[in-house]
Amino acid sequence: MDNTSGKATILVVDDEPANIQALGALLKGEYRIQIANSGKKALAMVQNASQPPPDLILLDIQMPDIDGYEICRRLKEDPATTGIAIIFVTALDAASDEEHGLNLGAVDYIAKPFNPAIVRARVRTHMSLKRKTDLLEQYALLDGLTGIPNRRYFDEQVQSEVRRSVREGSPLSLVMLDIDHFKLFNDHYGHGAGDLCLQKVARALSGALLRPGDRVCRYGGEEFVALLPATDAAGARVVAEQLRAAVEALAIDHEYSSTGPVVSISLGIATIDLNTPSPALLLQQADEALYRAKVAGRNRVGG
Ligand code: GH3
Ligand code: MG
Ligand code: MG
Repeated sequence: MDNTSGKATILVVDDEPANIQALGALLKGEYRIQIANSGKKALAMVQNASQPPPDLILLDIQMPDIDGYEICRRLKEDPATTGIAIIFVTALDAASDEEHGLNLGAVDYIAKPFNPAIVRARVRTHMSLKRKTDLLEQYALLDGLTGIPNRRYFDEQVQSEVRRSVREGSPLSLVMLDIDHFKLFNDHYGHGAGDLCLQKVARALSGALLRPGDRVCRYGGEEFVALLPATDAAGARVVAEQLRAAVEALAIDHEYSSTGPVVSISLGIATIDLNTPSPALLLQQADEALYRAKVAGRNRVGG
């Protein structure tokens, strides 16, 4: 639902212009309507990665090129499109047709000729379910304490960024970082203050990343990780130093740190080697560099 109007999007697929007309007219007040008059066009529109997929598809079954069942099957097997709600709108009205459609993953089945009020009501129901599912999926990828993306999100993203880096031959860097002497902070100021500190650090780290493709995630406990697409080792070092400075600038008192008067972080960077591209290797190298930063005195970027 990320288009400018804020309305959810429905794709109406039918080879009969009159049906497209009727359904479009019925729904265009509440939704943004896209149309396709063939199976091929529908697939091309939905699978076009440069625009967000529709939220829901009203799908005719009998069409000359690719039928609705086949479109549904293909969209459901692709992770990028499996979340789209599909409602068959069809003149096929045998129970076996309906069963087949629902087994392919459609959420509903409306017989033609359709009753406008019923179409509107069913679309509204499925759109509301879709909105809730989308929201749940979004929450599942966010860390509850800090509100920034979590480890699960990071694990997904690092996989796809490594693939992209190989495909485009562009560098990819990763910064792993950890709060210094955080156990002592918790022990002396209490767990509540520790939580607050984590929230402030997360906000400072997110705010210090300037490029739109850069992402910082909570990796676990008091460890964070920043993913920096199209960034080489020299660039990563600059970003890491900005992250370090951003946390230091929060000036959160840490009387019990032997590193300095305020909360600080240690960081390790790793940059992809396109000969051996692997998320696990990147993480391991960043973690080793972080360890060196700790040993070398903390509040610094490890090489
Ligand atoms: P170092 O400088 O070597 O990193 O030392 P450290 O004390 O930061 O490292 P250690 O791994 O010993 O301690 C991590 C601490 O982080 C212990 C744990 O209680 C605290 N911690 C982890 N997650 C949370 C959290 O969600 N909230 C709070 N308040 N504390 C947390
Ligand atoms: Mg620590
Ligand atoms: Mg730690």
